[in-house]
Amino acid sequence: MAPPKSKKSLAVKKPQPAVTGGSSAPGRRPRKAASRSLYSPAEVHEIFRRFCVQRPEPKGELDYVNAFTLLVAVVLSAQATDAGVNKATKTLFAAADTPAKMLALGEAKVGDHIRTIGLWRNKAKNVIALSKALIDDYDGQVPQDRDELVKLPGVGRKTANVVLNVAFGQHTMAVDTHIFRIGNRIGLAPGKTPEEVEQGLLKVVPAEFMRHAHHWLILHGRYVCKARKPDCPACVIADICKSKEKTTDVPAPLVPIAPLDETFPVPA
Ligand code: SF4
Repeated sequence: MAPPKSKKSLAVKKPQPAVTGGSSAPGRRPRKAASRSLYSPAEVHEIFRRFCVQRPEPKGELDYVNAFTLLVAVVLSAQATDAGVNKATKTLFAAADTPAKMLALGEAKVGDHIRTIGLWRNKAKNVIALSKALIDDYDGQVPQDRDELVKLPGVGRKTANVVLNVAFGQHTMAVDTHIFRIGNRIGLAPGKTPEEVEQGLLKVVPAEFMRHAHHWLILHGRYVCKARKPDCPACVIADICKSKEKTTDVPAPLVPIAPLDETFPVPA
């Protein structure tokens, strides 16, 4: 039997520990150092402890049945609502839930399923191209490695981080607009770019909270620390927060949030 291609072995690789700030691996693009967090380790721990009390098990809004369909759903969700993506993928994933079935379905039929989603033509192309790449290079498996994931058509760093975190439980941080804003607004992980904020958060967030940290931050930004006007009276970390924009030092009562509100938008 012919030896497997070198890339294939990555498909069955065990989850890797999160890449934290600091030195870069040989051959990789050097990362800029993120600015320092304004918070002590004890303060950061308390922030995430409270988020954890509010939502012990935050759930995503995108529907998927396996790592491949999650990858496709996240690719489709760029500039589209999660509800709109779910509507389209309900029939798409019923017809094709593996790269081989997706490739057999073909670009035209994939397009028929996702026609209601923005940029559907280009996304149908990417879904077929990434399905083919998974079959050709990874034995039809979704690689558990960010450097490999971002080689797939339509897959950027944020999409890769979502898949690694949600499907494989890796301690990645998918920085979307909410997380970028919070990182800078409250000085938790200041940075000029999403990658700088990502590196800053990977450095400061305690390992025990990394599994759900990006979910909690997205929810906090979506419902409380909102873009236009933060709702500080509803904020459970108002006493710890060091933002110049905050309007109160009194934290909101720390109580679990109803399950109905426990969903969050997966960063596109
Ligand atoms: S106190 Fe206000 S500014 Fe600070 S995290 Fe809470 S909502 Fe955001």
